[in-house]
Amino acid sequence: MSELVFPAPTPPTVAIHGSALRFPVHRIYCIGRNYEEHAREMNATVALDAPVFFLKPGDAVVGDGADVPYPSATGDLHHEVELVVALRSGGRDLDEQAARAAIYGYAVGLDLTRRDLQAKAKAKGLPWDTAKGFDASAPIGAITPVAQCGHPAAGELRLQINGEQRQCADIASMVLPVAAILASLSTLFELRAGDLVFTGTPAGVAALQRGDAFVASFPGLAELRGHIV
Ligand code: MN
Repeated sequence: MSELVFPAPTPPTVAIHGSALRFPVHRIYCIGRNYEEHAREMNATVALDAPVFFLKPGDAVVGDGADVPYPSATGDLHHEVELVVALRSGGRDLDEQAARAAIYGYAVGLDLTRRDLQAKAKAKGLPWDTAKGFDASAPIGAITPVAQCGHPAAGELRLQINGEQRQCADIASMVLPVAAILASLSTLFELRAGDLVFTGTPAGVAALQRGDAFVASFPGLAELRGHIV
């Protein structure tokens, strides 16, 4: 009997700002409803004691400058610009100090969403996987190490589409700040080096079209640019 031979999987990676090295991605966690104004525009409420978490596959990442294919099975692809946290270590039941110590760096990313499929899932109380976890659903800019950018607690997260501003908010208005998100996540999952955490989007989410050019930015972090094709 010959053994089954599978091709060695290539781990997804993200660029590291100012380095030739690349960050190997483990999991991608996301929090929903982490800015009150966005929760309001979605006709939802925020619950401090019960944050909404979901995941995307690690290989859903797309790097800076890449073309993002318009996904199948949707007519309502939405942008959600988010601050993204990259972990250098992990653990379970982390307190906020330990959570902060686990952070390798920060980036800007897009939590791309098939809003029509999400609306159908919400109406039926079904999972969000097909709305959130599709291929190329997580464009992310180069990760800036904490050594260069510190731990940003304030500053304007922005998204421009075709040169026009669509989303802009201060990350200080997050419902759960970064360390609290990580601490809460670590009660549900064992966090690990290589995890990426999308920290929620501010108000202003809207549809993307083929041909749109996007620029996501945050002071002190590498920009994320790309096109929907
Ligand atoms: Mn989101």
